[in-house]
Amino acid sequence: MNRDNSADEMKLIDAHVHLSDAEYAGHIDELIADAKNAGVTALVTNSVDLKTCLSDLKLAEKYAALVYPALGIHPWNVNVLKENELEQTVDLIEEQKNAVKAIGEIGLDNKYETIWEKQMMVFDKMLRLAEALELPVIIHSRGTTDKIIEMLPSYRLKRVLLHWFSHSISALYKAMDNGYFITEGPPATYSNDIREIIEKVPLTRFLTETDGPVTYWKRPYNGQLTKPSFIRNVVEAVAEIKKMQVDDVAQQTAENFEVFFNIKLN
Ligand SMILES: [Zn+2]
Repeated sequence: MNRDNSADEMKLIDAHVHLSDAEYAGHIDELIADAKNAGVTALVTNSVDLKTCLSDLKLAEKYAALVYPALGIHPWNVNVLKENELEQTVDLIEEQKNAVKAIGEIGLDNKYETIWEKQMMVFDKMLRLAEALELPVIIHSRGTTDKIIEMLPSYRLKRVLLHWFSHSISALYKAMDNGYFITEGPPATYSNDIREIIEKVPLTRFLTETDGPVTYWKRPYNGQLTKPSFIRNVVEAVAEIKKMQVDDVAQQTAENFEVFFNIKLN
């Protein structure tokens, strides 16, 4: 690898990806090699149900000191939970508490109103688990950001990350007042709304993500399979928006990763 270029020394972070998603099956070794080559030094793989919790734990073991597991039940999955799956997931997380780095991806989604009560029940259970195990939480809040920001102070949570933050600037300020972190991903290169949030968020509360395998259709991604190496595009976009050096953005996000997840990077 060419070490003359200082960009090769950058530590890039994918704080929110779904490596156990079926779309990535059979591509993991290749994705990891590509990520390493691009300077990605940490990936937080987020589970969505019991099956992906088990698979994410295995990936974290296989790619130790690179892949870290966030375990939980996604709001989209609450309606397809098998009998006892919620209890079994909670038991697994408790058993594996030393390996688990966060509870995620959990949250509420207002596009799935018919299962609202079930979403609330599972979300509450996951937040209680995070409290008990003193783990940070990674939250999905589509259409529910205000509600979630209002709810969370009644839980004793270590740290909170609102992933793909896309709500109002006033909600962003409330989240910042509460001490929360946010992540943004590939839309940083093309979405004016996301770029405005990046402009306003203090960089010390910001982390980068891909949320892969979500597909990004706009330039420069053009619908190709989302890879953790896209983080480089995100960091470059953030540097442009904040009028900073790319290296400085990477350095700060790496520090934020260590603070948020309580993990020392290699
Ligand atoms: Zn996600």
